[in-house]
Amino acid sequence: MSTDFKQLVQPGLHQLLPYEPGKPIDELKRELGIDDIIKLASNENPLGPSRLATQAIAAAGADLARYPDGSGYRLKHKLAERLGVAAGQITLGNGSNDVLELLARTLLGPGVNAVVSDHAFVVYQLAVTAQQAELRSAPARDWGHDLDAMAALVDDDTRLVFIANPNNPTGTWLSRAEIEAFMARMPASVTVVLDEAYEEYVDKPDYGSGLDLLPRYPNLVITRTFSKAYGLAALRIGFGVSHPDLADYLNRLRQPFNANSLALAAAEAVLDDAAYLQESITVNAAGMVQMENGFKRLGLEYIPSAGNFVAVAIPGRAAEINRRLLAEGVIVRPVAGYGMPDHLRVSIGLESENRRFLETLERLLANGGDS
Ligand SMILES: *Cc1c(COP(=O)(O)O)cnc(C)c1O
Repeated sequence: MSTDFKQLVQPGLHQLLPYEPGKPIDELKRELGIDDIIKLASNENPLGPSRLATQAIAAAGADLARYPDGSGYRLKHKLAERLGVAAGQITLGNGSNDVLELLARTLLGPGVNAVVSDHAFVVYQLAVTAQQAELRSAPARDWGHDLDAMAALVDDDTRLVFIANPNNPTGTWLSRAEIEAFMARMPASVTVVLDEAYEEYVDKPDYGSGLDLLPRYPNLVITRTFSKAYGLAALRIGFGVSHPDLADYLNRLRQPFNANSLALAAAEAVLDDAAYLQESITVNAAGMVQMENGFKRLGLEYIPSAGNFVAVAIPGRAAEINRRLLAEGVIVRPVAGYGMPDHLRVSIGLESENRRFLETLERLLANGGDS
């Protein structure tokens, strides 16, 4: 007897490929048998976690035998206060990834479509495809989202638009004015998801969060995460801010305990660690300058980035250089799967990590060709 799962699984899954994460340090350790590895591949916070977060986790450990607070009451109320919204507008997720998926599951199905940009965060595409909805991807402009091109793909059957601001893996950002103008032209039946995973890092005069557009646009959702500047990627905690009616539907669909106790405690604690957040931002800004100067010195073009990562062009050699960086214990992110076969995405690390990456890169570029 044999079971043919190909005939049995949801049709949306046939075109779905698994998300490819950055290579874990332990995996490369096993493969190379070396210890001295740096990972600049997943836009993680190179400082490690906030001490307030690790202390909160230790304290929360006493209650591991209990289910978490399924409503996330304390974190939601703290966030609501910080952001100037009602707690009923907040949806907590197992990472903001969870919230993005909940939005797709809430609003998409066969017969409707969602609009994204080329080179956008790949999770949107996965969430749309899994729902058997049609994915419409607009060509990018200078690697960034072209909101006119995206608006042109919207029709009566469009239920979702995903905008990453800044975008990953390109680091490109949209101005507050562009976001506002886009919202003004969207029909009420189109929910716009503004993914602000890197919002804390952005230091561009024309940038602004879309949060304060929420009262005017019930069809706007903002997503944020504790995985990046707040340094809690391992815990999987993020959130969405939306109209309370939409939050209510998301709440019906989510798993009852999608945000676990340790994540809730750590997220609450790190919100009080203003010094940690500031240091994360400062270290990133300095590291970005270091990285950009390194690329200029090497004559490499890069896409100016507002996040904690930068995509650098190594025309014709990105895959080869990536392979050889790995062999040297340096993990960065190939982005061919994002339609960027000539780029590598590098997360900003500590000064010493950035230096090791740049020195290794310089050496590999100098002795050309595959070895
Ligand atoms: C990293 C990232 C996220 C956040 O992922 P989590 O699930 O919260 O860890 C969301 N959107 C973008 C664009 C990202 O790069």
